[in-house]
Amino acid sequence: MSRPAILTVDDDPAVSRAVARDLRRKYGEHFQIVRASSGDEGLAALRELKLRGGRVAVLLADYRMPQMSGIEFLEQAMDLFPNARRALLTAYADTDAAIQAINVVDVDHYLLKPWDPPEEKLYPVVDALLEAWKAVPDREVSEIKVVGHRLSAPSWKLRDFLAANLVPYRWFTVDDPEGQRLLDAAGVGPEAVPLIVTADGRPLAAPSKAELAAAVGLSTEASQDFYDLVIVGGGPAGLGAAVYGASEGLRTVLLERRATGGQAGQSSRIENYLGFPDGVSGSQLTERARRQAGRLGAEMLTTRDVTAIEARGSARVVRFGDGSEISAHTVILATGVSYRPLQCPGASDLTGRGVYYGSAVTEASACKDSDVYIVGGANSAGQAAVFFSQYARSVTLVIRGESLERSMSYYLIQQLAAIENVSVRTCTEVVGAHGDGRLEELTLHCSNGNTSDRVEAGFLFVFIGAEPRTDWLGDTVARDPRGFVYTGTDLMLDGKRPAGWDRDRDPFHLETNVPGIFAAGDVRANSVKRVASAVGEGAMAVTLVHRYLEGQ
Ligand SMILES: Cc1cc2nc3c(=O)[nH]c(=O)nc-3n(C[C@H](O)[C@H](O)[C@H](O)COP(=O)(O)OP(=O)(O)OC[C@H]3O[C@@H](n4cnc5c(N)ncnc54)[C@H](O)[C@@H]3O)c2cc1C
Repeated sequence: MSRPAILTVDDDPAVSRAVARDLRRKYGEHFQIVRASSGDEGLAALRELKLRGGRVAVLLADYRMPQMSGIEFLEQAMDLFPNARRALLTAYADTDAAIQAINVVDVDHYLLKPWDPPEEKLYPVVDALLEAWKAVPDREVSEIKVVGHRLSAPSWKLRDFLAANLVPYRWFTVDDPEGQRLLDAAGVGPEAVPLIVTADGRPLAAPSKAELAAAVGLSTEASQDFYDLVIVGGGPAGLGAAVYGASEGLRTVLLERRATGGQAGQSSRIENYLGFPDGVSGSQLTERARRQAGRLGAEMLTTRDVTAIEARGSARVVRFGDGSEISAHTVILATGVSYRPLQCPGASDLTGRGVYYGSAVTEASACKDSDVYIVGGANSAGQAAVFFSQYARSVTLVIRGESLERSMSYYLIQQLAAIENVSVRTCTEVVGAHGDGRLEELTLHCSNGNTSDRVEAGFLFVFIGAEPRTDWLGDTVARDPRGFVYTGTDLMLDGKRPAGWDRDRDPFHLETNVPGIFAAGDVRANSVKRVASAVGEGAMAVTLVHRYLEGQ
């Protein structure tokens, strides 16, 4: 924790130095003494302290200063640090005017200059001010601060990005007085939100994901032009490949468009991953895997969306949206799958404002006393229902089928049955989302009886199956009709190798139709959609990368 500040403002350098010296002597061990020579300079120092999340205990201002009087300074300082205690320094001749002014603004004390000896005239006053401040102190905010609108998609996306990347932050709405103070300190209005203030006090208005990532210390730029292995996608398969690739001496870089962890990172509890008998949350697993890959030497870049791939001679080249490229001997595609969008009127307009894809754990506390609906009948939806039942008034799982048995694990069905505020609506679909500015109601259609009803709903979380987003692979990498990447024996037709294949061997088990480009995890055609299998395939792909490199 940093020391709270005592700030003194005086335009007379000799007086200013003397006050600061006396304050430092008695309070310097526990407080930082900040000195300013004008009201403007004092306010600038306070703005900086506000953005850094610092605390201010006492403000001492000279009454008579040329551009801004001590009273004006204290008035403005109060907007930034309302809990700081305030005192005016006055010359004897100004006492009456100062007392009048004290009645106008809320100043705790006035101190007559000179204050010698400080033991008698200065310290007792400052002690009293500090006592008063300690009764209602400020709280230090050392994390990143985010100011935004509660019901705005850009604010939600920014918070979701930070949460997914496991970056701790403190959230303030624009209506919150502290949110307002941060906007003032940053010198911007509410139109600039979402505003992010970094831990070292740097304000960034509506940053792009790449700017945000860089500001919070996530790497976005590759350190080299050429690698042994480029991994596209930072889910379990990509992280698994990164751990094995780096630990086996390959120059490895992992490229992730959003946040490492992938789908698994969104899981509130993974119960069936080997070695975690009590289950593990997706974020814990991700945090450990990311640390492990980093420690072993893998480079990990976020907010890097790979948009094209090509074989250029023996190099395998991936391209980003901005036209920049990274080349390597080999590539592992580990891009997994993404949620299918809910196709019904209103759903897209209300996304981020009550309608969310995946668990959106950032919204958990906002769900308090709300009716939450979850669409989907797979384990991911079941886990979300268990999770949100701890916060919401009610949780309703909406599924098309007649029961959960065919799509959800037995242990989860049992778990859900035992939770009082969770119910299941079978044979039902969400056919409309309604609300003015945020989700308020849903229309549900029940195929069993062909009836529709409109229900109040504060939140809708969508888990309706997923699809690979692999269009960017173009004609280079062969895929099945649904977009999953063919590998190994799936590429062999009637015992024949794929068209254009130029090696005197068959494709390796996880190799695509382009030698040196591999696929692992959910994105691979006919893969098992599990964390363990994704991690295993990531590891196996690295072994095949070695084999490929040996044959080069
Ligand atoms: C809520 C939930 C709960 C689950 N619970 C369990 C469970 O309990 N047990 C279990 O075994 N499985 C569970 N699963 C399934 C499991 O999470 C997946 O099988 C696993 O995450 C697949 O890993 P992956 O690395 O192949 O892909 P993903 O996890 O999908 O990761 C792919 C990554 O690639 C990134 N990416 C995609 N395209 C690009 C691109 N062009 N450029 C850069 N990056 C890109 C994505 O942003 C993503 O981070 C769950 C899934 C969900 C959604």
